[in-house]
Amino acid sequence: MGSELNSTDPMRLKIAVQKNGRLTDSSLDLLSRCGLKYSRGKDQLMCYGENMPLDVLFVRDDDIPDLVQEDVCDLGLVGLNVVQEKRLAFAARAIAPLFETVQLLDFGRCKLCIAVPDGFDYRGAQSLQGKRIATTYPHIVGRFLADHGIAAEVVVLSGSVEIAPRLGRADLICDLVSTGSTLAANHLRHAETVLDSQAVLIRTPVPIAPEKQEWTRRLLMRIDGVEQVKGSKYIMLHAPRSALPAIAKLLPGSEAPTVIPLEGRGDRVAVHAVCRENVFWETLEELKGVGATSVLVLPVEKMLA
Ligand code: ATP
Ligand code: ZN
Repeated sequence: MGSELNSTDPMRLKIAVQKNGRLTDSSLDLLSRCGLKYSRGKDQLMCYGENMPLDVLFVRDDDIPDLVQEDVCDLGLVGLNVVQEKRLAFAARAIAPLFETVQLLDFGRCKLCIAVPDGFDYRGAQSLQGKRIATTYPHIVGRFLADHGIAAEVVVLSGSVEIAPRLGRADLICDLVSTGSTLAANHLRHAETVLDSQAVLIRTPVPIAPEKQEWTRRLLMRIDGVEQVKGSKYIMLHAPRSALPAIAKLLPGSEAPTVIPLEGRGDRVAVHAVCRENVFWETLEELKGVGATSVLVLPVEKMLA
């Protein structure tokens, strides 16, 4: 089937992904891990899933909730910061949001922070009273101020927020931070976190065609599986049956392990378990300490609950 045909196929799911930015690689990596094969040409607006009825639309991250809102896309991968800002912006205009957050994802972590110039004596939210705050997130900042009963001026900028205090456009800023080095370079320091953010999957709450609904369900299950196996390990070992309670306590984040008797080995059993966290050398040493032998730790590639 040619790609032009696919592009108009109403039975194909569409997911919006950031075109070129911090979320792009991790978003595409997630879709690949879910089994999606696609071909992406340079500067393409869209790419077509070759083995699933799922197409990827590449856009600016700020447009992703709107595309779901307007039913152009069924799903989107975007930062919680953008989702929250949009939600509040719509609420201010009495528009019901038509996108819902279905899952938190393990990438795109950052904080939306209040940052003040060196020498600013920050003593909590009340220090913001009467000040000018530069931000690209006016609704989130507005909500924060309202929650704390503070009257301050929000200076809305579209970018380069961190230089606003030096230009005299604001007294302080509220911006996204992940390492803090940009703040330091601009003689600013972290004062307060307004929002902890990470990438999320959003979807339309509007009913969609049953075929699309079924693929959404499958994709969500795969995304859940991918998220679950990140950092998970499969551990196998031999041990005396009497050591099972001690072993169960040592295995990080594991549910009931599988216990298999070992032929002709008396009391010894094989224990297999999925650990939801990384297994460190210290844990292996402790396992040995309670009688485990032949300990193997393997990465988990896929998981389906
Ligand atoms: P676009 O052209 O798509 O509008 P942008 O400049 O708004 O790009 P990026 O800087 O690529 O966007 O950030 C996209 C998202 O990545 C942010 O909205 C946020 O959710 C997340 N993110 C993670 N770490 C950071 C960080 N240190 N600074 C900014 N955003 C970050
Ligand atoms: Zn953006």
